Amino acid sequence: MDFSLSEEGKALRDTAKQFTEKEIIPVAAEYDRNGTFPHDVYKKAHKVGLMNFAIPDKYGGIGLTVLNATVVIEELARGCAGITTSLLANDMANYPIILFGTDEQKERILTEYTKELIYGSFSLTEPEAGSDVVGIKTAVKKDGDYYIISGEKCFTTNANYSKYITVFATMDRSMGHKGICCFVVPKNSEGVTVGKKEDKMGQRASDTASVKFTDVKVSKNNLIGGEGNGFKVAMATLDHSRPNVAIAAVGIARAAMEHSIAYSLERKQFGQPIAQFQAIQFMLANMAIEIESARLLTLKAAWLLDQKVRCTKESSFAKCFAADVAMRATTDAVQIFGGYGYSKEYPVEKLMRDAKLMQIYEGTAQVQRLVIAREILNS
Ligand SMILES: Cc1cc2nc3c(=O)[nH]c(=O)nc-3n(C[C@H](O)[C@H](O)[C@H](O)COP(=O)(O)OP(=O)(O)OC[C@H]3O[C@@H](n4cnc5c(N)ncnc54)[C@H](O)[C@@H]3O)c2cc1C
Repeated sequence: MDFSLSEEGKALRDTAKQFTEKEIIPVAAEYDRNGTFPHDVYKKAHKVGLMNFAIPDKYGGIGLTVLNATVVIEELARGCAGITTSLLANDMANYPIILFGTDEQKERILTEYTKELIYGSFSLTEPEAGSDVVGIKTAVKKDGDYYIISGEKCFTTNANYSKYITVFATMDRSMGHKGICCFVVPKNSEGVTVGKKEDKMGQRASDTASVKFTDVKVSKNNLIGGEGNGFKVAMATLDHSRPNVAIAAVGIARAAMEHSIAYSLERKQFGQPIAQFQAIQFMLANMAIEIESARLLTLKAAWLLDQKVRCTKESSFAKCFAADVAMRATTDAVQIFGGYGYSKEYPVEKLMRDAKLMQIYEGTAQVQRLVIAREILNS
C-alpha cells in the first residue's frame, strides 16, 4: 500500500486547510444555530475546486484519486461536518453516473456540475425502507421512450437545493433487488415535490428533506446502469462513499481532540492544568490512537478503491469504526470540558451532535456490522 499524496493532492489539502480556517470555522456555529443552507460557502468552495471530487478531469472535474480526496475531506469536516455532508452529497449523487453511466450521460450531466455550482441528491431511503433497501416501494413503469416514477422518499440530503435527484425505484417488488432501477431525475420535472425539511439534532447546515414523485416522466436516457441494475449501482456507490463518511468522522474526532488538548492545558483545577491528571491524559491518548486507526482504515479503503479492487468489507470497516470513534471522541471531549462542554458557548457539544449522524446514515452502525459479517462468513 502506498498512501503518499500526489502534488495536486497536497496542494488541494493545503487549500482545504486554509479554506476551513477562513471560510468554514468562522461561520459553522451560526449555520448550526439557524439551520440555514451554506450556499455562500459552497460558492467559494466550488470556485477553488473543493467540490465534486469524484468527477474525472475528462468532464471538467479535478480527477483526484479517492486517496487524495480523502485527506482533503478530513480538513473540511474538521471545520464543520454539516457543511461537508451537503458538499459531499454531490459526489454521492454522481457516483452512479461515474461508475455506471454512458459517455453521453457523463458528458451531459457531470460537466454541468463542474461548469457551475449546482447540487445533487442521492435518494434511496423511504419512510418504510431505510436499512432494508430492497424493501423500497417507489415504483417505476416503462412507457415508450420514458419511465414513469411514483413514490415517496425521505431523508434526502440537499433535496431543497438539488438540480438533479439520483433516485431508486422498483419495476416489481416481487423481483427483490433484481427489480430496482436507478434514474437521474431533473428536480424541475413535473410531479416532483420536496416535502418537509428535517429539523435535525446535528449537521444542521446540511439540508435534509422528503421528496414525492407523482407520475414523474423520465427519459430512458436518464436510466443509469440498465434496467434491474439499480441495487448494484446503489451498493457500488456506497462502497465508494463510505470512506468519505469515515474520513469526515475522523475530521470531527480530530476537532474534538484538538479542542480537548487546548482546553485541558488551559483549565486549572486543584492548582494544576487538568491535562496533568492521568484520567484526562488517558482520554486524550485514546482519542489519538483511535483517530490514527480510523484514518489508516479509511486510507486503506481509499487506496483499494483507487486500485479498482472490490472493497465492500474495508469500506464498512472504515465507516463503522470511524463513526464510533467520532462518537467516543466527541463524548469524551464534552467530558473533558466539564460543565462548559455541555454549553453551546463551547464548540464540543456541536461536535457530539454532528458525530451521531455518522453512525446512522449511509448504513447504520448495525448495518455495517451485518455487511462485515456477511463478507467474512462468505469469504
Ligand atoms: C441527516 C440524514 C441524512 C440522510 N441522507 C440521506 C440521503 O441523502 N439519501 C438517502 O437515501 N438516505 C439518507 N439518509 C437516510 C439514512 O441512510 C437512513 O436513516 C439509514 O439508512 C437508516 O434507515 P432508517 O432511518 O429507516 O432506520 P431503520 O432501518 O428503521 O433502523 C432503525 C434501527 O434498527 C436497526 N436495524 C435495522 N435493520 C437491522 C438489522 N437487520 N439488524 C440489526 N439492526 C437493524 C438500525 O441499525 C437502527 O438502529 C439520511 C439520514 C439522515 C438522518
